[in-house]
Amino acid sequence: MPYPTQPTASHFINGKYVEDTAGAEIPVIYPATGEQIAVVHEATPAIIELAITSARAAQKAWAAMSGTERGRILRRAADMIRERNHDLSVLETYDTGKPMSETLYVDATSGADALEYFGGLAGSLTGEHIQLGEDWVYTRREPLGLCVGIGAWNYPTQIACWKAAPALACGNAMVFKPSETTPLCALKVAEILHEAGLPAGLYNVIQGTGAVGAPLVTDPRVDKVSLTGSVPTGRKVYAAAAASIKHVTMELGGKSPLIIFDDASLEDAVGGAILANFYSSGQVCSNGTRVFVQKGIKEAFLKRLHERLQTVVMGDPLDEATNFGPMVSERQMNIVQGYIEKGQAEGARLVCGGKRVGTEGFYLEPTVFAEVTDTMTIAREEIFGPVMSVFDFDTEEEVITRANDTEFGLSAGVFTADLTRGHRVIAQMEAGSCFINSYNDAPVEAPFGGSKQSGVGRENSKAAINHYSQLKSVYVRMGAVDAPF
Ligand code: NAD
Repeated sequence: MPYPTQPTASHFINGKYVEDTAGAEIPVIYPATGEQIAVVHEATPAIIELAITSARAAQKAWAAMSGTERGRILRRAADMIRERNHDLSVLETYDTGKPMSETLYVDATSGADALEYFGGLAGSLTGEHIQLGEDWVYTRREPLGLCVGIGAWNYPTQIACWKAAPALACGNAMVFKPSETTPLCALKVAEILHEAGLPAGLYNVIQGTGAVGAPLVTDPRVDKVSLTGSVPTGRKVYAAAAASIKHVTMELGGKSPLIIFDDASLEDAVGGAILANFYSSGQVCSNGTRVFVQKGIKEAFLKRLHERLQTVVMGDPLDEATNFGPMVSERQMNIVQGYIEKGQAEGARLVCGGKRVGTEGFYLEPTVFAEVTDTMTIAREEIFGPVMSVFDFDTEEEVITRANDTEFGLSAGVFTADLTRGHRVIAQMEAGSCFINSYNDAPVEAPFGGSKQSGVGRENSKAAINHYSQLKSVYVRMGAVDAPF
């Protein structure tokens, strides 16, 4: 294999790499060339069992350690990830096709941020004391037990770390199943966590499709499920987890609005729209793919956007000059092409892009549609590719109603020079992660997650602690018990 830090087997369980070739083969395809670069084997029932029993066996002793000790291991892993950032970024590029100009700065590094942040918090997780006259109540913040993480393919290192860090900080064990499309990066996260001192069994990675995810979700020994994926998968996983009242975090899809008022800085608004649609070739859940532009600046906006898109550098993702990579898979490329055809068939105006580039790899041009109307398919469904839809609007009141007219509620953004209006509009957006004069920032210190059908729960920030721990309250009576009979 051509990349430097290759995992040595399909699964990582109980502190070591484990193989079971009885599992179906899952080819790993490099999206820039279409070549097969590795193969992993889907977890068999024996592998699933080993992962669950190893995690359960390790969790109690981990929870009994002090938070400071747990945190020290996570922070050491964060340092190791930063030291190995270059090789991990190359692996992320092979796994996903995202260019090194992105992976060097946002993937392993944001994973390290999460491990550092939650490692730092681990020592200060406490309950509280509630005085009730002479009696009192104290609360204990306890781990949930065994958490299952299930990942999407767009940010495999980041997703693995965003789930591992708060889960482990709170004293849980985890079994993580990466997306079958990008199985490699999470294995390196597991390897580094254990090299940093994580006791065996606390973070296990097993491979497979939804057929491996499903039995993890229903297993009675699992206490929590955290999924990053699409809304249709979220519906299935949420329902399956509900059968045994498991805790859930659902980080799902979106069709987020980005509203640009005519007083906005044109250059910043165009930059924001580019970040909101074309980073990672558009494969970002929080993307602002419905760009509402106030009529006064619409033509200027489209002209400048078109100019700036001419400077895109599409090509070899391993070349750091490249800033636009391929779709993650042939399947995803075909899905996106289908939406582009639908946009044209339903009467949207294709401003630029729309075509596949070359025959090697899964490259699509950055694509912009204008005069999109609210009922078109490209206005309503998540495309998850480099396709921006531009809508016209007249008034603030109108755009708020139209922006909220969706089943999704992950993100929303507004560009305006009038900050009062910026806050007023964002306050009315039905979305969990919002931006004023910016787009797609996701620092670990800020809660991240969706409202409406885009999700339940929050990742990152202190809010994530509530989703990986539970409170036990203990009433302590100091005097005699006064019973009625
Ligand atoms: P997907 O829903 O197809 O798959 C997500 C994961 O769920 C995969 O690991 C898959 O194997 C697993 N899975 C599928 N069926 C399952 C089942 N029945 N039981 C258990 N697990 C099952 O999503 P995808 O195509 O991998 O990723 C793209 C989607 O993820 C987009 O909708 C995107 O918006 C979303 N996403 C959301 C966030 C977020 O934080 N909100 C982040 C990244 C991606």
